[in-house]
Amino acid sequence: MDKMRTQLIDAHCHTDKQQRLVTYLKKEQILSCFNCQNKVEADQLLPLAKQTKTIWLSAGIHPWEANRYQLIDLLPILEQVSVVGEIGMDSVWTSVPLSQQQRMFEQQLAYASDKGKPVILHTKGQEKKISRLIKKYPNRYLVHWYSSLEGLTDFIEQDCYFTIGPSLNVDPAVLQVAEQVPINRLLLESDGLAAMEWVLETKVDEQVYEHHQMSQMVTLAKIKKLSVNQLTEQLRGNFLRFFPGN
Ligand SMILES: [Zn+2]
Repeated sequence: MDKMRTQLIDAHCHTDKQQRLVTYLKKEQILSCFNCQNKVEADQLLPLAKQTKTIWLSAGIHPWEANRYQLIDLLPILEQVSVVGEIGMDSVWTSVPLSQQQRMFEQQLAYASDKGKPVILHTKGQEKKISRLIKKYPNRYLVHWYSSLEGLTDFIEQDCYFTIGPSLNVDPAVLQVAEQVPINRLLLESDGLAAMEWVLETKVDEQVYEHHQMSQMVTLAKIKKLSVNQLTEQLRGNFLRFFPGN
């Protein structure tokens, strides 16, 4: 069982009020990146990440909150992390005007490119637009939980990294990412316990998390014609190549 756990990575996730996921990933020494999108999350995660070699942090103003914050509000947190995200645009799950989203997104892209901090992208419904926008800001990009059947090659051509979201077994668009993205650009993510509950339509505790993520690994290994051990090695290598030294 212990060996199984060490095979996981979680390249994009969110914390929860009880800090269950961060406590678990820290204990199991699973390579992971937690997202901070406000001061409450940063206050919880910054001290933990400082003590833990296996936990990275990203910070950014989420497109759903592009009308609530200014870049300057988040700067004290951004300065303390090595990755910017998740940032982007969304025309499916929010009514925040796209013009406001784009302004905030480009400010953060410029900051990240300037500081040499890689970026985690949220692209829902705005895939085409985002694949064009990022060309203006040279950087290393990770597209989080890509879930459109269109536009994937625009990102593959730009040598982006991709996370497989927790819906690999049920979403043809996620399956397409697994099939088409080169193995050296793939990562695995949970997006946190709440997102996993949304996918699985059930309560998710640490055991369910582990079981589900291992089943994703088995599926991905089959698609890529690798053993789970080979896939583990590859994903750990990809993780350490994308995320700056900790
Ligand atoms: Zn997320």
